Amino acid sequence: MSHKTIEQIGKLRKSLKAVILAHNYQRSEVQDIADFTGDSLELSRKAAGTDAEVIVFCGVHFMAETAKILSPEKTVLLPDKKAGCPMADMITLEQLEKEKAKYPGVQVVCYVNSTAAVKAGSDICCTSANAVRVVERVKKNRPILFVPDQYLGHYAMARTGIEMHLWPGYCPTHVKIEVADVRRQKTRYPDSKVVVHPECRPDVIDEADEALSTSGIIRYARSYQGRTLIVGTENGILHRLRKENPAVEYVPVTQRSICPNMKRITLEKVLWSMEKMQPRIEIPETIRQRALAAVERMLEL
Ligand code: SF4
Repeated sequence: MSHKTIEQIGKLRKSLKAVILAHNYQRSEVQDIADFTGDSLELSRKAAGTDAEVIVFCGVHFMAETAKILSPEKTVLLPDKKAGCPMADMITLEQLEKEKAKYPGVQVVCYVNSTAAVKAGSDICCTSANAVRVVERVKKNRPILFVPDQYLGHYAMARTGIEMHLWPGYCPTHVKIEVADVRRQKTRYPDSKVVVHPECRPDVIDEADEALSTSGIIRYARSYQGRTLIVGTENGILHRLRKENPAVEYVPVTQRSICPNMKRITLEKVLWSMEKMQPRIEIPETIRQRALAAVERMLEL
């Protein structure tokens, strides 16, 4: 079944002039058929640079929206429209506007893991890789509101010493990673380093050797000299790590860190979506342009 499905996806990829993107947290078999794997902004930028007419985004809703923000002329498909991100949905544009009203002159730094509407209401976007740099560069004489992830915001605040108001959002998958899990794995693999994602809670980050974005973890693994690396993020990343650098053994901090939304995308849904050219991502043009401005301000830094 899978072999035939992969063959049909391959045929449609050609006939539709489609590019298939898979986030690092996707199922292994979905990552394996993708043209590009990576983090959400990296994927959207790569797709924008191709002459593909259709983008099939194997990820969650805000990621497909980001692809549409950067490539309005392309058709963007999300193979399961229920693949949302609970963290992105923890703040709406209305809530953001109310919060902004509390702090006159506020500048909003918005993690890319957010809806297009929330990006549109923000001054500048950031990724988990550049959050510290973005926060360092915004004006110091005005209050800063960081949305939606309080833990990435806390991480950037701790690294820069710059005070911010933090929206109390969080990633339900990364908060499943606990300090006790890190300590257990360190005892089991005493010579190993621990890398975690900055969406983890501050006590977990303090216990780890490094806090890195998914692309940062992949780069770190390439030059890692140890035999075993303990990884604290969504466990889909282990597939790519094992594929790219099989000499190292990768162990998750915990088996619990699995994002059910990321796992909604299957090969069968990818095929169905390409056959039906559904579900499509559409963003009102005024929102898209404002969201794009927030993304571009980040890229200019
Ligand atoms: S891993 Fe967390 S941030 Fe990423 S899609 Fe899942 S819930 Fe959202």
